[in-house]
Amino acid sequence: MKKITTSFACIMLMIGVFAQAPGEKCATMTHFNQRVLNNPEVQTRMGQTEALTKQWLENHPNALKKKGNNKSLASVYIPVVVHVLWNDPIENVSDAQIQSQIDILNEDFRLLNADSLDPSHPFWIYTVDSEIEFCLASVDPNGNPTDGITRTFTNVVAFEANDDEKFTSSGGHDNWDPTQYLNIWVCNLDASGGTLGYAAFPSDLATDPELDGVVIRYEAFGDIGTAGTAGFTANDLGRTATHEVGHWLNLRHIWGDDQCGDDFVNDTEIAEGENYNCPSFPHRPGNLCGSGPDGEMYMNYMDYVDDYCMNMFTYDQALRMFAALNTERVGLLTSLGCDDASLINELANEGKFDLYPNPSNGVFTINSLQNLTITPIVYNVIGAEVKRFNGINHFPSTLDLSDLPNGIYYVKNIGSGKSLTKKIIISK
Ligand SMILES: [Zn+2]
Repeated sequence: MKKITTSFACIMLMIGVFAQAPGEKCATMTHFNQRVLNNPEVQTRMGQTEALTKQWLENHPNALKKKGNNKSLASVYIPVVVHVLWNDPIENVSDAQIQSQIDILNEDFRLLNADSLDPSHPFWIYTVDSEIEFCLASVDPNGNPTDGITRTFTNVVAFEANDDEKFTSSGGHDNWDPTQYLNIWVCNLDASGGTLGYAAFPSDLATDPELDGVVIRYEAFGDIGTAGTAGFTANDLGRTATHEVGHWLNLRHIWGDDQCGDDFVNDTEIAEGENYNCPSFPHRPGNLCGSGPDGEMYMNYMDYVDDYCMNMFTYDQALRMFAALNTERVGLLTSLGCDDASLINELANEGKFDLYPNPSNGVFTINSLQNLTITPIVYNVIGAEVKRFNGINHFPSTLDLSDLPNGIYYVKNIGSGKSLTKKIIISK
């Protein structure tokens, strides 16, 4: 629940939470606060991100389908690379376990999870299909085919949730271009604090791009293989990644990391603090913070309950994630990481035309780098031609697609005997 205070003041309040409490499941805020201590620019940048987020949300009040509202942006596909770091062979999780995690992310973010709330539940009205999907990368940063997985033997027996996972030089693996991929590291984390994982926020992309991504302990990753082992039975359904990717898309803990704190979201009930295990509904009705009679939304992915007990993001949380994808993380919208590698190779070698801005409201500028006469043909995501322009021979020129609905399209240019294709996003 958003409190009636300024965002800046709330951010400053959060800095008060420094120590990693014993049993802290998620080290994201501890990690962030530590980085603020080392570099005040991290905090400044967070404030700028909040301003960008607020502005985008004000300009796109109906960006997602609300119950009974059909307006919607196109689905977004986020290319994922999973960096497996292993010392003990058991930590070298299988391809199947990795795929199970991707499947869970897709189910949870698209509200396809079998345990989603029943329409009779008072909080059902807030549940949402965020329209965000994930795919293991098929194209690496060099344009070559990949399975979206790197595997690294490390001499580090247990990482300390201190970013060592993110550097080849410290026994981890350097991240792939964070503007184009979601990087997930899977490894053994020091068990003394029970930390399941931690994430970087979108604002971190500007200050520390090499730290961008999400770290998950191997016992809380996916829902097969090592998931739920070594005492982590409560974390056996892959919801640690759902939670951490929520942070990565700018979501905060449901309790705002303070008693009755602010999570910058309007439709989550204000909470006294984090919730563990699995409370009964209604939990803390009419709590100290002034929650409604239905109490706290403990089943939200951004709380601390057991995996089997959490099952929803809210509409406003999804909007906030969409704001991140259209501001700080906008590069993902046009990432080629999940596209066909043979096509990408062609683009890397040729690249004879440019389209910008991308995404746009539908009016693009097209520029040919070699001043050829080109014939742009626009296809939708299922390959149907939706628009064709006659030969264009002066540049830059305007490509007006504003009559097309929001979504992902491909523009194929035929010229000089070669055809080249680019992916574009229309977002009004
Ligand atoms: Zn967290």
